[in-house]
Amino acid sequence: MAFSSIRHLYVHIPFCPHICPYCSFHVLRADKELSHILVTRLIEEHRSIHDDLDLQTVFFGGGTPTALSTAQLERVASEILGKSNPAEVTAECNPSTLSLQKAKSMWAHGINRLSIGAQSMDPKVLQKLGRTHSVRAVRECVEIGRSAGFENINIDLIFGVPGQTLASWEKTLETVLSLNPSHLSCYGLTYEEDTDFFARLQRGECQSDQELELEMFRLANRILTQAGFHHYEISNYARPGFESLHNLSYWRGEEFHGIGPSAVSTVQGVRRTNGKLTPQGWNVKSEEPLSAQILASERMALGLRTSEGVEEEAFRKRFGFSPEEKWRQEIDLLVGNSLLTKNPFKLSAHGLELADEIAAYFVG
Ligand code: SF4
Repeated sequence: MAFSSIRHLYVHIPFCPHICPYCSFHVLRADKELSHILVTRLIEEHRSIHDDLDLQTVFFGGGTPTALSTAQLERVASEILGKSNPAEVTAECNPSTLSLQKAKSMWAHGINRLSIGAQSMDPKVLQKLGRTHSVRAVRECVEIGRSAGFENINIDLIFGVPGQTLASWEKTLETVLSLNPSHLSCYGLTYEEDTDFFARLQRGECQSDQELELEMFRLANRILTQAGFHHYEISNYARPGFESLHNLSYWRGEEFHGIGPSAVSTVQGVRRTNGKLTPQGWNVKSEEPLSAQILASERMALGLRTSEGVEEEAFRKRFGFSPEEKWRQEIDLLVGNSLLTKNPFKLSAHGLELADEIAAYFVG
């Protein structure tokens, strides 16, 4: 494969002021010394890949990028965005970690999309999730973002939280709509191993209610599409024209660089994963060459999550075989059960509800 420039960059900032009990990311409590090491090493790591990049999107994720000081964020943003002009530059933030001064500085340094980790607009659900911000802080965070110049604002929400009712979820959706975001991500709560929530589930202290979760998924779909949002990926809704270019690149199977502790890259068919942050910085933890078969499986599993689906001819050009040559039985079964349509391959409304199970048909 001829090498072409990488257009997408993920930057991991692993700090959070407080660790949520359901979180499975590589996160640490914000720390002055480690922040200094992180910023220095991020700049070095970026310089080592700089010549490969022709950036269209950058995503500062975490953790909580805004847990860094304004000066630290400026150093990292100037380094990465100083000589490039990507169309979309996102920074995740948590309500209560974004001051107007920081937001203005981020905007001035080329960050043009904010992703706010609100999770709920119900104080009881926020408490259940172990979040330390209030509903009011979410409103203030949106106002701060707008005052600083941000028009492209995403709000992250979680449903399927123990004790959360359908009425509470509906109210959360209506309340966030009143804040007029351009994008909403609605994720079902997952119980990841090695989290406090997983241990509680194991001990029988909480239960996951799949039926209620499905009702919540359908409710979000109905309310948000009626409000004019485009349901362009299972968990993601955008005002037309505000779909996340960065996340679309993952679902389309494009190559990307990731820098920072625990960040992942897929470049020239090799998946590289960084190790965790230590006082010595971080190292590459693993490098795995990906076969065309693996990349093709991922393309199907991820592409079927999107409303655009997977286009057969583009797939064949890229991998040298068509989806039907590889998965004829599976595709016939899914089409026969009205879960999948062809040209392009797309999940039906019912298929989307079973997307995780369907993905397993194409992987492994
Ligand atoms: S704010 Fe997000 S990244 Fe940080 S601990 Fe909570 S869930 Fe994890």
